[in-house]
Amino acid sequence: MTVKVGINGYGTIGKRAASAISAQDDMEIIGVTKTRPTYEAGLALQNGYRLFTDQDRMASFKDAGMDVSGSIEEMFSEADIIVDCTPGGVGEKYRPLYEKAGVKAIFQGGEGHGVAGISFNSTANYDESWGAQFSRVVSCNTTGLLRTLAPLDKAFGIEEAFSVLIRRGADPGDSKNGPINAIEPSLKLPTHHGPDVQSVMPWLKIQTMAVKVPTTLMHLHANTVDLKEEVSTEDILEVWSKAPRIKFVKGGEGIKSTAQVMEMARDLGRSRSDLFEIALWADGVKTVGKKLFFYQAVHQESDVVPEIVDCIRSMCKVEREGPKSVAKTNAAMGIPR
Ligand code: NAD
Repeated sequence: MTVKVGINGYGTIGKRAASAISAQDDMEIIGVTKTRPTYEAGLALQNGYRLFTDQDRMASFKDAGMDVSGSIEEMFSEADIIVDCTPGGVGEKYRPLYEKAGVKAIFQGGEGHGVAGISFNSTANYDESWGAQFSRVVSCNTTGLLRTLAPLDKAFGIEEAFSVLIRRGADPGDSKNGPINAIEPSLKLPTHHGPDVQSVMPWLKIQTMAVKVPTTLMHLHANTVDLKEEVSTEDILEVWSKAPRIKFVKGGEGIKSTAQVMEMARDLGRSRSDLFEIALWADGVKTVGKKLFFYQAVHQESDVVPEIVDCIRSMCKVEREGPKSVAKTNAAMGIPR
């Protein structure tokens, strides 16, 4: 079975999702939507994707010399599943249209859990989206926390987790947002990131704080975890070394900051220099009694992308076992583990 996938919103996440889906042999892109005839719309056509837009915007694409294959609703009716990659808050407005078209849809982390009633992470709860009409791939930060915390909870049990999220001010291609020369703490505490992790692992006790800083490269999390038992640093590294989509980096090997993590990502030669894995400083992991301290960095533009692919397989009943889907996605995207 080849799943027919439409991408609604071809921006930062949408274009990456399209590339990752095109690399799989059990799914195909049947089209992408654009609201304006931008360079990205032109590149979508060059990449062989059909363009769809609102009926009343078609003329502007024609004027720009871009071929449009139909309306957004026509794309919905051709697809088995839509990956909604519209800006946060816009996805929920599309939900009634997906329902009307009888098409499945995956929302992104900019929407609340309620938009789908199921939130997805490949490591933590692949099965929950099995056959579902709607699911939501959680945000980049939540994906990062789930990738490292879910394996720890399974292996040793987590009493309570606490994370300080040091958030990038904007994506690299975004010149509208900031801060530019400031550090901006989130004053509504604890922040929404803890409850977002609980949308996938409801039993996990977790609290979070967040500050926004003037960088575009990555987010960084400073984490403290109270484990249910005393465990050595080696045992913890052993568990993470077998968990998917975690990449160890070391200060001792010259990776001391997010700048060097992204330099390494560029050297890996992947598409758009993306780092789909969570970078975890192996020489910055420390246990004191039952307390664990560690840092991790999240490439916000790309870590959710392999999860979107796995979510399609779960919702469209293509692969029953999560680890098999993860392995298949990874192989097609050049992710070692
Ligand atoms: P983006 O602004 O880069 O892309 C959004 C795209 O949707 C743009 O191409 C825009 O033209 C299009 N769009 C806008 N309104 C539309 C409409 N009414 N109908 C159809 N298309 C429309 O946004 P993004 O960063 O890709 O974010 C998309 C979603 O992914 C959000 O929910 C966001 O929270 C989530 N997300 C973003 C990141 C990130 O760091 N960029 C990481 C993880 C999750």
